[in-house]
Amino acid sequence: MIFARAQLKGLDISTSDTAPESASTPPEPSSAPSPTNPFGVPIPAEPATAAPVEPPAAPYVPPTAPPTPAAPPFEPAIATAPATHVAPPFESAATAAAPVAPSFEPAAPAPAPVAPTSAPASAGWAAPTAPANPIAPGAAAPAAPTTPIAPGFPPPGADPALAPPEKKKRKWGWIIAVILLALGLITVGIILILSLIRLGEAQELIGDQKEQIQEQEDVIEEKESFSSAMNELMATAHLFDGLPYGDIVPLDRYQNLATGAWEHRWDPATVALDTVEVQAETADLNAVLTAAQEQAATNASGTNYETVIDQLGSGYVTSAFDDPDTLCESDVLGCVMWDDPYTIHFDQADGYHESMNDWIRTGVAYHEYAHVLQGTNLDESDLAAEAFGGDWETMADCYVFTYLPGWTLDHTVFVGDGSYWEVSVGYGYTCNESQRQSIRDWVASIGVQVDTITQ
Ligand SMILES: [Zn+2]
Repeated sequence: MIFARAQLKGLDISTSDTAPESASTPPEPSSAPSPTNPFGVPIPAEPATAAPVEPPAAPYVPPTAPPTPAAPPFEPAIATAPATHVAPPFESAATAAAPVAPSFEPAAPAPAPVAPTSAPASAGWAAPTAPANPIAPGAAAPAAPTTPIAPGFPPPGADPALAPPEKKKRKWGWIIAVILLALGLITVGIILILSLIRLGEAQELIGDQKEQIQEQEDVIEEKESFSSAMNELMATAHLFDGLPYGDIVPLDRYQNLATGAWEHRWDPATVALDTVEVQAETADLNAVLTAAQEQAATNASGTNYETVIDQLGSGYVTSAFDDPDTLCESDVLGCVMWDDPYTIHFDQADGYHESMNDWIRTGVAYHEYAHVLQGTNLDESDLAAEAFGGDWETMADCYVFTYLPGWTLDHTVFVGDGSYWEVSVGYGYTCNESQRQSIRDWVASIGVQVDTITQ
C-alpha cells in the first residue's frame, strides 16, 4: 500500500508505493518520504491533524521558540550521563533536526545548548559536522568537562567545603608519609650496611698491616739477635789473637755464617737457626779457652816434656804419653799426627831412658812443637819449607836451633861412674843463620789473625 502524505510547503514532497498502510503508525520524521493514496492524488494527510500529538512535534518546538524552558533541564542530564542520553537525539538529528541539537550541546566547550537563535536546520546538523566530535552515534559521549563528575557530585567550582575530597587528600597524605618513612628507613639501613662493610674492610686492612709489621719486627728482631751473637763470637775470637795456631779460630766458617744470615735476612726462622750456629761456635771457642787454661795450669804427667810443651803451647797443645812408635810407624821419641796437630805423642820409656836428660827432652819437645806449628799453618809452612829443600824435619830442627839457644844435635850424658852416653838427636843438619831467619819469618807469618767479618 501506498500512502500519500502531504508535507509542509516549502519542503520536498515525494511519493512511495511503500508507504505505511496505517496512519496510526507514528510517522518517522527522519524517513521523509511523503505517503500517497492509491490514486496517486495527494491527499491532505490525515496525520496532519494528528501532528500536534506526535512525539516528534514537541521537540521541534524549541528551534522555533528559542527561549524554551526545556533546555536547562537537559544540561545537567547530559553532563552527568552523556552516553545514555545522547544516542536518541542523535538518531533523530539525522532525520529531523529538532531533538538532536540539545543532546550534542555538551560536546561543545560551551555549556549552553545549541544556539536557539539559529535556524532549526542548522542547529540540527551542527552535531554531525562538528569536527571536534568524530564520535559515532551511540558511542560514548563526547568528552565531558575536564573532570568527570559522578552523578550527584557538584560540578567543578562547587562548594569546596564538601567532605569527600578532603578525605581523599588525607588518605593520600598518609600513604605518601608512610612511603617516605619507608624510604628513609631503607636509606638509613643501606648507609648502615655500607658503613659496616667499610669498617670490616678497614679492620682487615689494619690486620694485614699489623701482620706485616709483626713480620718486619720479627725480621729485625732475628737480625738483631744474629748480630749480637756474631759480635760475641768475634769478641771471643779476638782472645786468640797472637796465638801461632792459624786454624784454631775457623774464620772461614764464621764468614760463611754471616753471609748466609744476610741471604736469609727476610726469613726470620732461618736467621734464628744461623744465630744458633754462631752461638755454638762461640761456645766451642770458650771451651778451647777453658781447656787451655786448665792445661797450662796443670801437669798431669809430671814430665819435663809436658812442662816445656805447656810453656810453648800456652796450654793449647796436649802432651800425650802413649805409643808413638805404632802411631807414626817408626821408633821415635815423639811425633805429631797431621790430623790432630794439637797433640804430641811422646814415647815415655825412650824419653826417660838413662841416656836422656831434661835438656835433650827439651830439644825434643821444641822439635815436636815445630811440627805442631807446621800442622796448624800448612800453607805458610809449605812455603817456608822451601828454605830446607822441602824437608819438614830439618826445618823442625832449625826451629830448635833458632829458639833454643845452645842447642846442638849431639849430646854427652854421664851416668855416674864415668860412663856416659853419646846422644845424637834430630836429623844431623845444623841450619845456618839464613835458614834460621827463614824460620823467624815463618813464625811471624803464622798464627791467628782475626779480621772483620763482613756480610
Ligand atoms: Zn820430627
